[in-house]
Amino acid sequence: MPPSAPAPSAPILAASTNRVPTAGGCPGSVPDATAEHWRHWLLSLAAGHRNDSLLASMLASQCVGLGAMPDWLGLRPEAFKQLVAYHFPALRQTALAQPQRPLDPERTDERDELVRLLLQVSDKGPGNFNLQPGPQQRWMAEIIAAGCMGSDHLWQDLGLWNRAELSRLMEQNFPAVAQKNVHDMKWKRFLYKQLCEAEGIYSCRSPSCEVCVDYHACFGPEN
Ligand code: SF4
Repeated sequence: MPPSAPAPSAPILAASTNRVPTAGGCPGSVPDATAEHWRHWLLSLAAGHRNDSLLASMLASQCVGLGAMPDWLGLRPEAFKQLVAYHFPALRQTALAQPQRPLDPERTDERDELVRLLLQVSDKGPGNFNLQPGPQQRWMAEIIAAGCMGSDHLWQDLGLWNRAELSRLMEQNFPAVAQKNVHDMKWKRFLYKQLCEAEGIYSCRSPSCEVCVDYHACFGPEN
């Protein structure tokens, strides 16, 4: 059984209480357990791989109804099963309830484009192509793409606890893409801008970010 719930201490937990938790939770869970409680519990079951702690944050948020992630973190159920077995081998698959929030089939193409961008497998030009991404990288690309379907900042939609976790996720898993964000643009904006530019679409209303009326939508605090 997981330990009793500690008081939340991470700043995001306090901030997150402004958002309305959705239905969900983990079966057999401790009533009123915090996201920090679930994260601690998940980390006690982790294999010690890169991304364990990031996934623990996402899954813990989902346990308490935070974030905007769909069922299986946007992965196919079989892939989610493999992800959990890899990162949290001691975790029973059934211990994680899904939020009953399916992926929107109308946005499949958009998600595929985002996955393609993250894995840099575009055949449209030269670049640092990774034609054989490992499963961990592919899982993360699909998870990020699913998070982009939410309407908040990307780190919030993913159920991460702060923006620094998302920056770490990007740098660890998609360094070629992350290194292009030299001006520390908001991550969701940055990814969509990359997609547009890859398609030759330049939707910015100004030739220069410094004088653009949308500056604060693209840059600045992401809290
Ligand atoms: S600030 Fe303006 S010009 Fe810069 S990326 Fe955003 S929309 Fe484009």
